[in-house]
Amino acid sequence: MAERLILHIDMDCFFAAVEQRDNPELRGKPVIVGGLSSRGVVSTASYEARKYGVHSAMPMALAKRKCPQGIFLTGNYPQYKAVSAQIFEIMSRFSPLVEPLSIDEGFLDITGMERFIKGNPRNYGMKLKQAVLKETGLIASVGIAPNKFLAKLASDLEKPDGLVIIRQEDIQRILWPLPIARIWGVGKKTEERLAAFGYRYIGDIARAGKDVLQKQVGERLARHLVELANGKDDRPVEPVRDAQSIGKETTFEENLQSRQEVEQHLLYLSAQVGWRLRRSGKNAHTVQIKIRLGDFSTYTRQKTLSDAICYDEDIFKEAKALFRAFSLPYGSGIRLLGVSCSGFDAPSEISLFEMENKQKKERLYTAIDKIKARFGEDKIAHLGESRVLKKINASLDGSEARH
Ligand SMILES: [Mg+2]
Repeated sequence: MAERLILHIDMDCFFAAVEQRDNPELRGKPVIVGGLSSRGVVSTASYEARKYGVHSAMPMALAKRKCPQGIFLTGNYPQYKAVSAQIFEIMSRFSPLVEPLSIDEGFLDITGMERFIKGNPRNYGMKLKQAVLKETGLIASVGIAPNKFLAKLASDLEKPDGLVIIRQEDIQRILWPLPIARIWGVGKKTEERLAAFGYRYIGDIARAGKDVLQKQVGERLARHLVELANGKDDRPVEPVRDAQSIGKETTFEENLQSRQEVEQHLLYLSAQVGWRLRRSGKNAHTVQIKIRLGDFSTYTRQKTLSDAICYDEDIFKEAKALFRAFSLPYGSGIRLLGVSCSGFDAPSEISLFEMENKQKKERLYTAIDKIKARFGEDKIAHLGESRVLKKINASLDGSEARH
């Protein structure tokens, strides 16, 4: 493969930085944005809060213990989305190939932009940072390298306000002395596992080689680790025209008359939407239900969550709560029900605590999703199918319409 040039841009403390930009009284203070429930995790901590050891993906309860004087916010997700759109618009001026990685970071393939770069990727990265600062008032860190892994690593090396270039010949010098946790996908647990075998630095992995590592941690992880430790990563920058929402709705031949029927069907719809989210690798912050009554009056209710979700039961829990909170003028019954998710977010950092639970859930859902893929989604998860009135119209919106 010809040498590529990949740029990774990542906003510094994005949610906290937006809050501090919009609320001057928060500047210079430890601001922590995230889920404030007992199960919540920190989305973003300002640098002031990081001094107390608070970081992304940390359980909120722990963050409160570490930084009791912190300012804790659930955050203003619609505002972050708006700023994010502005940042991605700027990125699109710097490369036709932009891949959003999460709400505040993306990859740009800038290979072959020599005409504009004039042999100097650093200038290009600097121009992008300056445009973001000028237009949004926010600071970004940028990394430029021959592939995604190294570009992402580079953007993190001199945060905040970093601009780091890693070339092929820098791999041993820059990559190998870094702790193993810097390898993409290595969390605390994998780090501890590798430490038990004496591996502490990325160079240790590269020197050990795949054969040795394979016996210790298994083939899949060994391959992943050795490739990345040698700075190899062929993943292309894949621009995705993201659907704004993924949803499913059903129109009933006979109107639903009881709460029980409605909730059964909300469960069915939640399972359909969950499957589509997982299939497209998305986590959603917003759950919406749509209700059309017998007289064709149509209502939507939605809730935006600090923690993004993708599992059936989590979607159902929110959909059901939205329905129950909605005092419905039943009368002629319900003609149409819909569930949709939006506000997608790919978590850039993985919480270890969440990971363990997630892995269990993922095994379960992978099995379910395989069956669905094999037999068709309508063959499974027809919960209480006989009691749900015959569907006369099941329409999809969002990305589904494009498949
Ligand atoms: Mg960021």
